[in-house]
Amino acid sequence: MHELSITQSLIEAVLDRIGERKVTAVNVQVGPLSGVLPDAMRFCFDVASAGTPLAGAQLMIDEPRGAARCRSCHEEFEVADLILLCPCGSADVEVLSGRELMLMSVEVA
Ligand SMILES: [Zn+2]
Repeated sequence: MHELSITQSLIEAVLDRIGERKVTAVNVQVGPLSGVLPDAMRFCFDVASAGTPLAGAQLMIDEPRGAARCRSCHEEFEVADLILLCPCGSADVEVLSGRELMLMSVEVA
């Protein structure tokens, strides 16, 4: 489960900047093409934050929609997973959004 190492890096990054202040919420953005499953990330966050100032903080995951544009028919379509296939059958697509994997903000007590 690579969500664990990603979540650990996220927690370390927050601890680096926040220090010992108590964190109440962490806001992240996880796109459907980021390769990270939000549910797995929530689970890993609870496990990896135990014993740190982030323990008990709420992980708020914003899940933006993924979008791509087909280079063959120039249609834009929504992508919900890593299968980038235009309804016209072409896989020659340009990803417009959905790869987000970002820490947006942290709320401290
Ligand atoms: Zn197409």
